[in-house]
Formats: sequence, C-alpha cells, structure tokens
Amino acid sequence: MKFSQTVSTPRTKKQMGQRKFNCPYCNIYLKRVSIKQVQKHNQGNKHVQNYIEYWKKVMITHQNEQNRAQ
Ligand SMILES: [Zn+2]
Repeated sequence: MKFSQTVSTPRTKKQMGQRKFNCPYCNIYLKRVSIKQVQKHNQGNKHVQNYIEYWKKVMITHQNEQNRAQ
C-alpha cells in the first residue's frame, strides 16, 4: 500500500482576523480579538503606561541586582 505523498495541509480555520491576545504588561488575556483591537490596545494610553511601568520595574530590579553584585 502506498501512502499518498501529499502532505496533509493543516486545516487552518478561517480566522476572520480573530486571534488570541495576551498582554503581559496589562496582565490581560483575551480569547478573541481582531487585529484592529490589538492595534488599538497597543496604542492605548493604559497599555503604554503599563508598558513603561513594566520596563521601569525591570530596569530597577536589574540595577538592584547589579548593585548587589558590586
Ligand atoms: Zn496592554
């Protein structure tokens, strides 16, 4: 018996521009969002604030670790 050589293409459901969205900065997870919604979120004031705060914390902890090492 011969297997057909055609590689079974993964059935990609038509996503209709909907996808999962996870924002670690805002600590949110959304199951279905459109790309537009994601873009809107990423440009939102809240997100930008959270983004800055997130990296500030990272920088501070990084600096503290460096200070401790000295
Ligand atoms: Zn966000």
